[in-house]
Amino acid sequence: MTQTAARFVPFGTTIFATMTALANKHKAVNLAQGFPDFDGPDLGKQAAQQAIIDGVNQYAPLAGLPMLREAIARWSADYNNLPCDPATEITVTNGCTEAIAAAFLGLVNPGEEVILFEPFYDSYRAAVAMAGAIPKFVTIKPSSNGFTFDPEDLKAAFSEKTRAILVNTPHNPTGMVMTDEQLTLIADLCKKHNTIAFSDEVYERLTFDGHTHRSIATIEGMRDRTVVMSSLGKTFSLTGWKVGWAIAPPELTAGIRAAHQFLTFSVPGPMQIGAAALLDNARDEVDRVSKHYTSTRRILCEALSELGFKVHAPEGAYFIMAEHHHVSERLGLKTDIDLCTWLPEHAGVAAIPPSAFYDNPVHGAGFVRFAFCKKMNTIDQAIDRLRLALRT
Ligand code: GLN
Repeated sequence: MTQTAARFVPFGTTIFATMTALANKHKAVNLAQGFPDFDGPDLGKQAAQQAIIDGVNQYAPLAGLPMLREAIARWSADYNNLPCDPATEITVTNGCTEAIAAAFLGLVNPGEEVILFEPFYDSYRAAVAMAGAIPKFVTIKPSSNGFTFDPEDLKAAFSEKTRAILVNTPHNPTGMVMTDEQLTLIADLCKKHNTIAFSDEVYERLTFDGHTHRSIATIEGMRDRTVVMSSLGKTFSLTGWKVGWAIAPPELTAGIRAAHQFLTFSVPGPMQIGAAALLDNARDEVDRVSKHYTSTRRILCEALSELGFKVHAPEGAYFIMAEHHHVSERLGLKTDIDLCTWLPEHAGVAAIPPSAFYDNPVHGAGFVRFAFCKKMNTIDQAIDRLRLALRT
């Protein structure tokens, strides 16, 4: 008999932990969990180490160290055209995942409706459950020109009970980067239904083929009803630091802080000092990392296509969401779970079964997600192994 509270029972163990454990068991190349197998810039690591030595070892302020909030404000103004007040509009959180939980817990009441695009990053669904809110889903599907959603589905998901919509662009796992037209449609519906937008922008700096990121907060009328959430992890290849932030007008920030103070209270000070150093002084890392991912993305996309996967080249983020039916049929397998269970053991490569990212898992059963945020060597090794195991 499970002792786990009912609100978490439907979610089991997160697919990221499950697949990394399976990868380790079979010594497989881990293209499952999205973390780089290299570190971010030394200057951040040195600043954090120095801060520990200098005695920044007691609680940081609950909203975050002022020097980091000021660095985030500069970053947000420079890259996202979104100036903000560090004192009243920024909260530093334990990664974007905590910002999302704090936004749901601090701003959504039980019984209110929340719109999620599926496939979704799995913590969204759990955060909705923690808040006792009711999720409504809009499905992102492949089209002739990348992934997209049907505007009619979106309109139908809104009601007078819609408190919030979670927007994630660039999108994990599909790589969709929302266009101005899509953002404007969401914005119009938010204004019409008095809905707030929770905008997860952690892949903000990782876009390809001329696609560019725009925050929904910069669409007219949205600044006052948007919580922009992002983090250091993806841009600076430091996912384990868990330094994130939420930017929102003062009334929404008050709700986020109300929850954040009782979830974690504050974020480790030395990591905040390292983060501030990176945001201000390691901006060339943005170019370096996006050049690298441009190459790993191209090489992995080509290899997967050759092997029989149907690949939709991602516009942003660092995942490839491929259709696998040709490959699976050859192997006598059916679903994403079958394939992702088979791959680590027989090919020595791990990937994510995306059905975990759908309300109705059947919608995700035809896809498999590969991460390309890895060293070129790692990608080459994964491709060699896949070729050996999947060659027809
Ligand atoms: N965001 C990462 C991914 O999508 C992993 C997050 C996690 O492991 N919790 O793979």
